[in-house]
Amino acid sequence: MTYTQPELPYAHDALAPAISAETVHYHYGKHEKAYIDNLNKLIKGTEFEDMALEEVIEKAQGPLFNNASQAWNHIFYFFSFSPDGGGEPGGELGEAIRKQYGSFEEFKKMFVEAGVSLFGSGWVWLSRDNDGRLFITQGPNASNPLTQGLTPILTFDVWEHAYYLDYQNRRKDALEALWDIIDWDIVESRY
Ligand code: MN
Repeated sequence: MTYTQPELPYAHDALAPAISAETVHYHYGKHEKAYIDNLNKLIKGTEFEDMALEEVIEKAQGPLFNNASQAWNHIFYFFSFSPDGGGEPGGELGEAIRKQYGSFEEFKKMFVEAGVSLFGSGWVWLSRDNDGRLFITQGPNASNPLTQGLTPILTFDVWEHAYYLDYQNRRKDALEALWDIIDWDIVESRY
């Protein structure tokens, strides 16, 4: 199987000012493209070639894991956004967030803090277990909660390449701005 990069469902300048057109161009157009190109090169002729990408992430190690997971993570990240996004989650996810974290405001604080306190490059995640219990986790580099048996629901990319053009060293500002473009319909459907 050869992986192809899906077109984003919005224009490159549609997420501004939270994420600029320039950042979408480099982050999705260059960084994510490189992960997918590398994944295709590394997987060819291996036992992983015909597995679902999620299974590759669960089973592979080293460069193949890194590129498979980064390929998946960026699509999950960029397909969480909409120029009409923002507001609060509803439905069962909204209920679970309020029940477990007290309020949506408190959840947002904890999620951003997990992203800000991650040293170096990585990802912050909201996931659920098989009982619907929510987990906020952070992990370095290409980490993905699939490897911990959890189902990802939402992620923020905290690699510098995700925000440096727009926010330089202000990672917290970069993460807080993302709440304005979250497409909660999509994110709720993952719960
Ligand atoms: Mn990234």
